[in-house]
Amino acid sequence: MIGTLLIVSGPSGSGKTTLCRRAEAAGLTSYSISCTTRQPRPGEQDGVDYHFLSPESFAEKVKSGEFLEHATVHGNSYGTLKADIVKLLLAGKNVVMDIDVQGAASIRACTDEIISKAYADVYIHVPAAELEARLRGRQTDAEDVIQLRLHNAAMEDARQGEYQFALVSADKESDYARFTALLSTLSMRTCLH
Ligand code: 5GP
Repeated sequence: MIGTLLIVSGPSGSGKTTLCRRAEAAGLTSYSISCTTRQPRPGEQDGVDYHFLSPESFAEKVKSGEFLEHATVHGNSYGTLKADIVKLLLAGKNVVMDIDVQGAASIRACTDEIISKAYADVYIHVPAAELEARLRGRQTDAEDVIQLRLHNAAMEDARQGEYQFALVSADKESDYARFTALLSTLSMRTCLH
C-alpha cells in the first residue's frame, strides 16, 4: 500500500506550513522540503525549512529534470525534488507538500502512476480581512512584500475551485482537527492498495 500525497495550498498567512509541520511532528506525515532561491528568513535553516539554493544550482536541477514541479512565486524560484517524494510514497508514508497554485496544477497534471494514484489536494481559505491582520501580525515582511502577498492571495483564491477540498481557516485547533481528519479519510482510499 502506498502513502497519500496531500498537496496543501493557500495564501501566505493561511497557516498551511504550520498545519503540515504539526502533522509531521505528530508522526502522521512526512514533510517535503522544497528547494528555493529566496533568502532564508530569521530562524530558518537550510535542509530543514528549505534547501536554499543559488539561482545557478536551481537552474542546474531544472535542466537535469530533478524537479517534480517548479514555479516562480513572489519573484523567487521554488521546486520539489521528485525522487524524494516517490521514495516516501512507495515506503507507504504520507507526504504533505506546501506549494502554490501553479505547483499544484502541474502535479495534478503529472502522468507518473505513483504520483497520480497518491494525489489529493486541499486549499486553505482565509477571509481577506483576517488574512491581512495575520500578515501584519507576524512582522516578518516589509510593507511592499505584504501588499504583494495580499494581491497574490486574491489571485490564488480565484483558483480554489481547482482543488478537491477547501478548508476555511478558523482557529488553529479547529484547522488542525479538520486537517488530520482529512488525512485519515484519504488514507482509506482503495486506489492506494
Ligand atoms: P515562503 O517563501 O513564504 O516560504 O513561500 C512562498 C510560497 O511558495 C508559498 O505559497 C509556498 O506554498 C510556495 N512554495 C513553497 N515550496 C514550493 C515548491 O516546492 N513549489 C511551488 N510551486 N511552490 C512552493
